[in-house]
Amino acid sequence: MAEEHKAAGQVLPDGSGETTLAPPPLRNDCFALPAGVDWTPVDQALGFLEQRLSPVIGRETVALKAALGRVLAGDVVAKRSNPPQANSAVDGYGFAGGIAPGAHVLPLQVGRAAAGVPFDGVVAPGQALRILTGAAVPPGIETVIMEEDVTVGTDRIAFHGPLKKGANTRDAGEDVKAGEVALRGGRRLTPADLALLSAVGLAQVAVYLPLKVAVLSTGDELVEPGQEAGPGKIYDANRPMLLAMLEKFGFEGIDMGRIPDDRETLRAALDDAATRADVILTSGGASAGDEDHVSALLQEAGALQEWRIAIKPGRPLALALWDGTPVFGLPGNPVAAMVCTLVFARPAMGLLAGMGWAAPQGFDLPAGFEKRKKPGRREYLRARVRNGQAEVFASEGSGRISGLSWADGLVELGDGAMDIRKGDPVRFIPYGSFGL
Ligand code: AMP
Ligand code: MG
Repeated sequence: MAEEHKAAGQVLPDGSGETTLAPPPLRNDCFALPAGVDWTPVDQALGFLEQRLSPVIGRETVALKAALGRVLAGDVVAKRSNPPQANSAVDGYGFAGGIAPGAHVLPLQVGRAAAGVPFDGVVAPGQALRILTGAAVPPGIETVIMEEDVTVGTDRIAFHGPLKKGANTRDAGEDVKAGEVALRGGRRLTPADLALLSAVGLAQVAVYLPLKVAVLSTGDELVEPGQEAGPGKIYDANRPMLLAMLEKFGFEGIDMGRIPDDRETLRAALDDAATRADVILTSGGASAGDEDHVSALLQEAGALQEWRIAIKPGRPLALALWDGTPVFGLPGNPVAAMVCTLVFARPAMGLLAGMGWAAPQGFDLPAGFEKRKKPGRREYLRARVRNGQAEVFASEGSGRISGLSWADGLVELGDGAMDIRKGDPVRFIPYGSFGL
């Protein structure tokens, strides 16, 4: 790219012995991908990452109440069945067998089965027993009729059949049986998982240590939010965003601050980050320009993979190992930085964190917009859902941070050419599917 721009400017003689610089001619295809250069399709790039990365972190055992959002380090086997014994699903009356159609009267046996207070005896054939929701079904009971369907006398009950044998009861282990795998390793624990693990008798679980991710911003133009911003300065938008994303992903962000466009300072920061973190995320300075010190340094270390990925927004993305620590050199533009993080860095970090590869779940919605797209690269548009349609942000400018905030997710347009009309199905991926 940089080569091409340089070549496009021409120096023309103006007759005075001086030269004037003519602007490069604008070309129709100035935003098209360079011809004859291989751009890696997104899926292929993701495939490489998936093949080449594996968990890099240790494990620990934590109490269930501290396990929300942690990643299971192995399969968890149920210690106990859920339910542990057959029990009643309703408040009512229990008896043996099913009930034929028609009116029935059954004598009531003395006693009661309640949740946590089992009936200590056997229910005789042809008799009924008062039983409450959650009570263990005592020997002699196979079926329960709801109290709402029963007329209760002093020592008998009357009701209408039919009722199937086993009605209103739950079998032992019908949900999960002791010894079965309740949850697979690699799963990031949800509130529902904590309910399941509790029910099957677990009080603690083995989890991976949180992935530590160092975040640093590069650029002489950056100042800290809250600071005075002089001419030419902008506030660092990427670092707060990236650190917040990491928190949502369940990783441990390490704030390495802003690094000026100075190679030695950046080198020291990368050295420091590599000792403190499992992964390093940088933003800015990743192309091949004069002040693109991230790519220059990584190149110098001999570890750079400059990924020319066919994606918009998003290039350039520099992947490298610094002292053995993976570095994702994200683009400086906040929109590209976010899209690259969601599409590439997140699943890759998920693998490093022991979660396995997690492709985001999208779904097709009718387009609420029109767009023509050239073949050769995948595009992600800031999008939101209104009235069942996917709307996209008016500008595709990669510096338009407000669009990231306006959106609820991304519309993913495939690699091929597209001529999207209103109502055509397009793939919408909510931010939530990316873990945000
Ligand atoms: P770079 O990749 O360093 O050439 O940066 C590309 C564009 O993104 C430039 O306009 C930068 O000023 C901008 N940029 C880089 N880093 C940040 C950041 N942390 N926050 C906001 N904008 C940034
Ligand atoms: Mg820069």
